[in-house]
Amino acid sequence: MVIDTDLTGGRPLSAVPRTTARRGTNLPRMGDFNQTVVLDAIRRSRSGLSRVELAAATGLSAQTLSNIAKRLLDQSLVVESGKVQSGRGKPRTVLSLNPTARYAVGVHLDPAVTTCVILDLSGKVVARSTVRTPTATDPEVTIDVMVTAITELLDKASVNQDRVIGVGVASPGPIDSKRGIMVKPPNLHGWKDVPIRDALSRKTGLPVVLEKDVAAAAVAEIWGGDWDSREHFVFVYLGTGIGMGLVSGEGVIRGSSQNAGEVGHIVVDPDGPECVCGLRGCLAVTCMPANLVNEAHELGVFPDPVDTSDPVSVEAAFISLCKIAGSGDEQARAIIEKSARRVAKAASVLTNALDFDRVVFGGPYWPMLSEVYLDIVPEALHALTVEHSIHPVQVDGTVLGTDVGAVGAACTVFNNAISPQTKRLLLNS
Ligand SMILES: [Zn+2]
Repeated sequence: MVIDTDLTGGRPLSAVPRTTARRGTNLPRMGDFNQTVVLDAIRRSRSGLSRVELAAATGLSAQTLSNIAKRLLDQSLVVESGKVQSGRGKPRTVLSLNPTARYAVGVHLDPAVTTCVILDLSGKVVARSTVRTPTATDPEVTIDVMVTAITELLDKASVNQDRVIGVGVASPGPIDSKRGIMVKPPNLHGWKDVPIRDALSRKTGLPVVLEKDVAAAAVAEIWGGDWDSREHFVFVYLGTGIGMGLVSGEGVIRGSSQNAGEVGHIVVDPDGPECVCGLRGCLAVTCMPANLVNEAHELGVFPDPVDTSDPVSVEAAFISLCKIAGSGDEQARAIIEKSARRVAKAASVLTNALDFDRVVFGGPYWPMLSEVYLDIVPEALHALTVEHSIHPVQVDGTVLGTDVGAVGAACTVFNNAISPQTKRLLLNS
């Protein structure tokens, strides 16, 4: 449903001065509601749409569409990309997206690695970079590294900052999304109530939106994955931490404070080690890379203990463990297999509770784990699924690679700026 009126509340993005006054979550919308509906339809069509096809797709009148098309052309957001002949009428002009008209930056702040990407308006990654996340306890040091990464990548890709809609930041939870604050990320030592959104916005002069990493990864999967809007799935994020993003037909389920997906205290081994929450064998103390490398050391796979307070050391040891497992070491492989069964158990709690029928794995460590996990998880999940006689639970790996968090953060920017939002429709009606 759309409002068939030619609202003129939207203003061209190019007319919005890019000053430090444009901060926080005030990401500019790319036009009024109807304009974003039309732009979104053109974007999704890949090969473009004629005005007649747009009328059929959106329900807007020819006059309204004509006005919107003119505005989109004036703002260079779309281009006339040729003509199509259908029937005996005169050829119709096709409107296609102009991918280089606008860009979004995505930054994924992982405790070990910070990944930065630039997406064009079509969602294509045009540039990427990675840098070690500083181990300094002073957040300012890390924020400055992020600013430098963003600036250098824009320069490298020759993207003028005036064409950048905003920066999306994917960070470990929990976050205070209203205030743009990272509350107390477990693997970034010394960080507490860090106002990362406003600090980054002040230093880059760009609007910034903060998203939890698992939610960002789920957004990326919706934008770029083989996704059907009727589907419901759990996105399992495997990184320095493990999180699970929830996607229903309407989009990502973020919860009342944008912190949905905290699955660390689901018990996956009742006889496992004690957890700070008072339970035993939570996901947080059995399946994190830090737990697995400790276990590997105890079993003699590694001669030396690993400094689990240092995310970089944990990452190096974890990569090594996966390589040893891949080379045929039975003990190493057994550690990974056990973690797969436990993660399947945690995922089954969500798929059973929500009656979901698909689990998608991704995150920076997925490529290293995919072989073992795809071997173990489907069967384990099937056995744990209450309704498996009614529907199976499909298990897939993401098609988006290790940058899924950063890509998702940039997609969040586009989501806010382009995708028609039902809330706006309700408020306007
Ligand atoms: Zn716990």
